[in-house]
Amino acid sequence: MENIFNSMLSSLKEKGLYRGDFKYLNSEQASKVKINNKEVILLGSNNYLGLCNDIRLKEAVIDTVNKYGFGSGGSRLTTGSYDLHRKLEEKIAHFKGVEASLVFSTGYMANVGIISSLCDRKWVIFSDRSNHASIIDGCLLSGAKLVRYKHCDMDDLERKIRENKGKYNLIVTDGVFSMDGDVAPLPNIIKLAKKYEIVTMVDDAHGVGILGENGSGTAKYFKLSDQIDIQMGTLSKAIGSIGGYVAGKKYFIDYFRNIARSFIFSTALPPAAIAASIKAIEIIEKDKFRRKHLLKMADWFKNKLIEAGFQVTRTITPIIPVIVGDSKNTVKLSESLLEEGIYVPAIRPPTVPSGTSRLRISLMATHTYDDLRYVIDVIKFHGKRLGIIEG
Ligand code: PMP
Repeated sequence: MENIFNSMLSSLKEKGLYRGDFKYLNSEQASKVKINNKEVILLGSNNYLGLCNDIRLKEAVIDTVNKYGFGSGGSRLTTGSYDLHRKLEEKIAHFKGVEASLVFSTGYMANVGIISSLCDRKWVIFSDRSNHASIIDGCLLSGAKLVRYKHCDMDDLERKIRENKGKYNLIVTDGVFSMDGDVAPLPNIIKLAKKYEIVTMVDDAHGVGILGENGSGTAKYFKLSDQIDIQMGTLSKAIGSIGGYVAGKKYFIDYFRNIARSFIFSTALPPAAIAASIKAIEIIEKDKFRRKHLLKMADWFKNKLIEAGFQVTRTITPIIPVIVGDSKNTVKLSESLLEEGIYVPAIRPPTVPSGTSRLRISLMATHTYDDLRYVIDVIKFHGKRLGIIEG
């Protein structure tokens, strides 16, 4: 038995796909972190707005722990629902401009719970090829027919709808794609959904806090908040806390509350985590400057990488993929940067398609232009040394 697993691990190593030990941080998740007590610039975090370690969130958490303790002690349908859960769910609904919302323990559990309770064998699900793994897992768990369309390709989507449409249908897409940083063409998706009478769902894990005039995400950015049937998101990225949610019409939310197994059969989030999310949404609603500054800095940084000759997807978000291609070379670049005090993880298959291994750089509002100028100099040097850009 041991041999089988060892040979599978060796095969991963040969392909440059083996994940070694974790990088353990011994500091808070800020624009600079400590790994083994060495300070490094962090360039791969989803803490886009720097709220994970914001003093206002810390204070909210401490006050809440003092009042409520830590663990929630039960699932939401038994003893684990607190007044704070209700407050957060009302807040999310208002923030997203919809009737109601429901909070899950993680975004992963939200996707799996929503899709598997909405769809069954009678459904056909049209899913963007680059959708997050939790969407795919939800689709597989549902037993529905899964039809994957080419990334953001509306002609392919329409062709596949015509060929596969069933009695009940769902189109599901990331709002902002986690590994590419690009934005789904929601207006066109909605047009097709209306034309063919299809339910729509958007996973806005990476859009929330970043896009839209109040920071509420991709739907707001396209002024489509009332057109998307199901909006899902996470509280663990720009919001700086932990958890996932679904937002939409009351009847959908009531349905998920009753049927979604990942909601029903798991312990509720601790009140302190809920208090952090409430505080973060309040900050996001009021503080436009943070996200504007972040997007401006990201644009500047992307242009510098492109000028240097790197293959970088042009996006309007703080997710900046630097495509290297080969997995081993990507790891070498990531390791070289770490030696120089820059931590940006290498992303390899199966997270991204084979041949597209990359550094997934993501900026935080709390980075400085000085940090980023240093990063550009170092990445250029090692990019040339490893033959990723011309010398
Ligand atoms: N959807 C997307 C697009 C994601 O990137 C992620 C997290 N990587 C999730 C869902 C899952 O969210 P969580 O981390 O809160 O489980």
